[in-house]
Amino acid sequence: MENQKYCKYCGELIDIDCVICPKCGKQVEDLKKNDSVVINNNVSASANATVVGFGRPKNKWISLLLCIFTICGHKFYEGKIGMGLLYLFTFGLFGIGWIVDIISIACKPNPYYV
Ligand SMILES: [Zn+2]
Repeated sequence: MENQKYCKYCGELIDIDCVICPKCGKQVEDLKKNDSVVINNNVSASANATVVGFGRPKNKWISLLLCIFTICGHKFYEGKIGMGLLYLFTFGLFGIGWIVDIISIACKPNPYYV
């Protein structure tokens, strides 16, 4: 009996999850409850998308100065340890990656996100 209820229109015993009475076809439950579940799903989905899309904020000028003066420091600053070590041992991919990074960081908004 716990997972059943009576239709308030025709009095038939129906499943507790029924929104539309299968006997008389009338709406017995408010749809708002289900709507709010859907809205919550959308909120959590967009919250996840926000985390993926923006990540951790980084100060453009700190990163740019680290890049110019230490060659590899901006990679460590961005949390890219592997790339930082690669830049450290190859002098910024033999200067090419270093120059590219200076330009790309200079073109980024402040703060930027990694
Ligand atoms: Zn009914």
